[in-house]
Amino acid sequence: MLPNRLEDFSPDFADDIADCAFISYKELPKKGKPQHNKEWTLLAAIIMKIENQTDTTLKTVALATGSKCIGKSKMSPNGDILNDSHAEVLARRAFLRFLYEELSKAFNNNTSLVFLPPDKNYQWSLRPGVTFHLFASQTPCGDASIFAKENIQDESAPMLDENLPNSLSLKSSQWPETSVSMTANKNSPCSNSSSKRKRKHSEDEDDFGQICEKQSKTSLQSLAPEPNSDDLNDIYRTGAKCVPGGEQDPLAPASGYHTVGILRTKPGRGERTESMSCSDKISKWNVLGCQGALLSIFLDEPIYLTSIVVGKCPYNEDAMRRALYSRISLLSMYLPSPYKCHQPIFLQATNKEFEASKLKVSTEQNEKTRTCSQSSRIVPSAAAIIWYLSESSSHDVTVNGRRQGITKNDIHKPKARSSVCSVSLFHCFNDLVSKIDRSRLPNCLSNVKMRELSYCETKCLAKNYQNAWSTLREKVYDTWILKSRDLLQFHLDVI
Ligand SMILES: [Zn+2]
Repeated sequence: MLPNRLEDFSPDFADDIADCAFISYKELPKKGKPQHNKEWTLLAAIIMKIENQTDTTLKTVALATGSKCIGKSKMSPNGDILNDSHAEVLARRAFLRFLYEELSKAFNNNTSLVFLPPDKNYQWSLRPGVTFHLFASQTPCGDASIFAKENIQDESAPMLDENLPNSLSLKSSQWPETSVSMTANKNSPCSNSSSKRKRKHSEDEDDFGQICEKQSKTSLQSLAPEPNSDDLNDIYRTGAKCVPGGEQDPLAPASGYHTVGILRTKPGRGERTESMSCSDKISKWNVLGCQGALLSIFLDEPIYLTSIVVGKCPYNEDAMRRALYSRISLLSMYLPSPYKCHQPIFLQATNKEFEASKLKVSTEQNEKTRTCSQSSRIVPSAAAIIWYLSESSSHDVTVNGRRQGITKNDIHKPKARSSVCSVSLFHCFNDLVSKIDRSRLPNCLSNVKMRELSYCETKCLAKNYQNAWSTLREKVYDTWILKSRDLLQFHLDVI
């Protein structure tokens, strides 16, 4: 694997990654894209970098848009609906489709650009020089979105980062002191009785869980504590809510509003969602890899993201590091090999703004209002686009977790499913297994009858992955909301 150091990336690297994602987005058909000047969305993509002795190429291999998440009552026990349609989460699922195709190629005729043929244990590994990079048009929702609005900090002022006094919800007793100081100062006078405090700025909280900002205020305000101040504009906030059973947000003014370094669920209007925030999910990928449980069975190592690049938007590298890496960083010693706490490079493409970002669309709308005296509210697009690099058509548009345009009568039929919902991915896994001679399958698959196993039972075959996941939950993420087992008991379709 290539060394993972900042100096390995040219100054233009972040811009190149963003350009790659934007070009791929532009090339997609109009279907599913937000209505111009009326709707906005988030974009995420996984870019493959292939580096050899003569040149380097970047290629988008998976891409998604989306900002919605369904509530618990809409979840399906059949694995046929997407619960979480945030762009980062869908891009990772699309990436799985890409990986399945490449594994299939590697097995069939060794034409995969990504994988070497399997080794004697029937496990695949990435070709040397192949790395993967996540682009997100906005800072991920949840913990990474909480940070001071100013860039230049007064050293005497409290900072919302990992250097704060040690009062943490994570299992801090297990870690050396330096690693766990991630919670806003609970002793601050701002925090007293704060949970009873009425939230005054709910209009700032969007249902998509990204950074909320009042446009009328400057972003360079002092973070000096003002216990009695109602000016709540000096940190960026997330609409993602703290998980039950853990530490909660004080909801006090200014920097006392949020607790940092804790698990959050995705925000949503109405019914509460049970999907974890993108910050939490990406941090999980930094331990378990992006490939998920099923694909881990075929791979000799987890597939980690070498870098995470964020487009033009409010951004703070310290908050990214805290949310996506620092809070899990000392877990490595407990993890079964080859799992580790992987630290990606965090970069921002400072001048690369997504054409359908909320800020861009609202700025254009404001301009239109000024010149034409017309005004209309901009809204998040209900649709999500899913695309991955494939030899066949792979453009998929969903609304409420199912394919757009599906009639009520067809809602439970396979044609209503997204290509990346759990049952679709389960079929991809089964297709790959069925192409491989039983004697050449990884050990845990050599004696199983796939059609007899539920999705949950199949995922449990990935023992090493499950051990690593249990360790992550036991040691750090003990309040992580797991999907009910009832939602994981579905089987492959009977054909
Ligand atoms: Zn998100």
